[in-house]
Amino acid sequence: MKFISTRGEAPALSFEDALLAALAPDGGLFMPEAWPRLEPDEIAALAGLDYADAADLIMSPFLAGDPCQDDLQSVLAEAYDAFHHPAVAPLSQIGPNAFILELFHGPTLAFKDLAMQVVSRFMNRALLRRGGHATVVGATSGDTGAAAIEAFRGLDAIDVFILHPKGRISDVQRRQMTTATEANVHNIAVEGTFDDCQAIVKALFADRPLCGRLGLTGINSINFGRILAQVPYYFTAAVSLGAPHRPVAFTVPTGNFGDIFAGYAARAMGLPVSRLVIATNLNDSLPRAFASGIYEPQGVVATSSPSMDIQLASNFERLLFELAGRDAVRVRVWMDELRATGAFRLSQGELGQLRDLFGAHSVGEHETEMTIRGVFEETGMLIDPHTAVGVAASAQESDRGITPMVVLSTAHPAKFPDASSGRRGACPSSPSACGFALASTKRCTVLPSDVAAVAEFIVGHSRAEPVRAEAGA
Ligand SMILES: *Cc1c(COP(=O)(O)O)cnc(C)c1O
Repeated sequence: MKFISTRGEAPALSFEDALLAALAPDGGLFMPEAWPRLEPDEIAALAGLDYADAADLIMSPFLAGDPCQDDLQSVLAEAYDAFHHPAVAPLSQIGPNAFILELFHGPTLAFKDLAMQVVSRFMNRALLRRGGHATVVGATSGDTGAAAIEAFRGLDAIDVFILHPKGRISDVQRRQMTTATEANVHNIAVEGTFDDCQAIVKALFADRPLCGRLGLTGINSINFGRILAQVPYYFTAAVSLGAPHRPVAFTVPTGNFGDIFAGYAARAMGLPVSRLVIATNLNDSLPRAFASGIYEPQGVVATSSPSMDIQLASNFERLLFELAGRDAVRVRVWMDELRATGAFRLSQGELGQLRDLFGAHSVGEHETEMTIRGVFEETGMLIDPHTAVGVAASAQESDRGITPMVVLSTAHPAKFPDASSGRRGACPSSPSACGFALASTKRCTVLPSDVAAVAEFIVGHSRAEPVRAEAGA
């Protein structure tokens, strides 16, 4: 399968090349040239499979014809072996027809592990096969960086530079990132917001000579590999609840729109997903866009769900590409307008199309706290603030009842212990196997929110030689 850019001005690449490139050279995001379809009997046959085996069947068509297709089975087996739950992504029930999909059983206790553990292995194997080195650069609002550092630490072929907004991530997230002692791991605390970090990463990728020199690659959800590895749990959850014979709805705590776009991908592949609900905290650029038709990201507000303190949802571009009937010219017009004026407007027709499938709700801080309390009182279950945003948003959907609603639980409550306790005196305990790094060693460099300063630091500390492209690629 080939991967094309949402902006239509970059050559189509194989999965492996798109994985290593991360962002298309025209500034667009990679998309599969067509969505592979799973027939209803193929979906039904996923029932009862091991998570890794189900993921293999779902992801395999995207890798068709690629050398890494041979790695898929062993990559998935290794990646999910380290999870703390044998089901990898188990469902639990919190109400009549209301479920939580627990995506926090990986090594850093957030859903990012499900994809990062897969992507790191694919990248490493591809580089070993090609004899290259690469420099991973990523922006994080907390969980991506922790998951990436955990997944990439100690790899010989890859250096990792993770930018986080200084002082805006949780204590556990900071410790998970800055206590890795491996020489290939570099933490940069940027004096700014997550959106600033993301803008710096995008600027670095736009510097083609620098990309070539460092073999720059990205592990943010702009990398299609991340999205792809998040598709399987939509299938396994829906099949557990009766798909393909029964439709299922999902509510997804959303920041950069990667996770929920994986749900869109599952639907495009044939899974009967009746509704996808975007749940945001006070950073509500998406719910505002769905209400008014105007997408206008504003300043980031700090909340108790910091991994979603994002206004500029990068992966929304992928949905826009689909909405435009894959017309890259239309996407470029929207993106140019966004860059020039800070906003763009969708037509009434386009807005109607989006609303047919998507709901979008913003959840305030008080409501988040009350939801944590309510779920604890009703079920005895502790949920983290990101999950609580999802639960509260799902409650705002009117069509509840016959269709099962699955809320994605994106982080373990132990990762955000203060907010998750709901001030009830209940304190989430972390799984003993999670191995929180509580050591006092802190490896972190503070830099201003400035592209040149970050570039200089990376050049000075990267061991990478350029990735050798496959012949003809
Ligand atoms: C990253 C993250 C999200 C948001 O996911 P996106 O793919 O960026 O929308 C939500 N919750 C948690 C805990 C996260 O780490």
